[in-house]
Amino acid sequence: ARKGKTPEDVVKRYLQKVRNPPEEDCTICMEALAGPSGYKGPGVGGISRAESVGRLAQCGHQYHLQCLVAMYNNGNKDGSLQCPTCKTIYGVKTGNQPPGKMEYHVIPHSLPGHPDCKTIRLIYNIPPGIQGPEHPNPGKPFTARGFPRHCYLPDSEKGRKVKKRFSFLCIPVINHQSLYLNAISSFQVLRLLLVAWDRRLIFSVGTSSTTGESDTVIWNEVHHKTEFGSNLTGHGYPDLGHLDNVLEELKAQGITEEECLS
Ligand code: NAD
Ligand code: ZN
Ligand code: ZN
Repeated sequence: ARKGKTPEDVVKRYLQKVRNPPEEDCTICMEALAGPSGYKGPGVGGISRAESVGRLAQCGHQYHLQCLVAMYNNGNKDGSLQCPTCKTIYGVKTGNQPPGKMEYHVIPHSLPGHPDCKTIRLIYNIPPGIQGPEHPNPGKPFTARGFPRHCYLPDSEKGRKVKKRFSFLCIPVINHQSLYLNAISSFQVLRLLLVAWDRRLIFSVGTSSTTGESDTVIWNEVHHKTEFGSNLTGHGYPDLGHLDNVLEELKAQGITEEECLS
């Protein structure tokens, strides 16, 4: 939370004024945009009629200001906002991953489906602890099962060479999407995963869908491969679409090549 910035200030930063709300419903509260917000909770008093509806500046979706403020207050209040309709992210999205460590190194073995390259191993370690205000049950302990968790990416050095060799051509000439994305290379994916780690987006605290245990550390929305030579859990290789999928999932968290290069 930024000092001196109320939730309303944060939300307004991403909004344009709407003088005449359209005859549509606000999809947060399902009430008409032209009427008052259906949100009845605390902490949203004092919003004047003139600014009761706002348009998100980039995607154009409109909501009651009060509804957006309530939604923001429900999240981890990191100064960012995500459009609930189209998922466009305003500001820098962060998560509630507990403190821990992320390491990586190259191991001289090949993954199934990637016979010509070595492997990047990621090691995540998160100890159990006490939940903070950003977690589901603040003050209550959380468990951390199966740590350190080892994850694998093909080390596509070959892919990096391909990209370099052809970079003087415009990329569409190669015109085969998976080749292009393979050329994007695991090291770039790794770089983006490091950004995701810094923004606390790799893990979360909640209920494990595998074990049903609550108040425990769980994977967030970015899939990792935790099996090396087999695929017993479905989280192993071969899976030629894995890098593409991870890039998509990172994008949904607001982490992209373009943004990280700037
Ligand atoms: P979860 O079951 O709530 O699932 C969250 C997401 O993680 C889902 O998208 C799911 O598809 C994915 N996922 C589930 N199992 C996975 C796995 N084994 N590898 C990679 N992704 C997986 O998430 P969770 O509770 O964090 O993980 C599921 C279980 O896997 C837990 O019981 C955990 O202890 C165990 N696990 C153990 C190790 C280990 O090295 N011993 C490593 C990873 C996961
Ligand atoms: Zn509303
Ligand atoms: Zn939108």
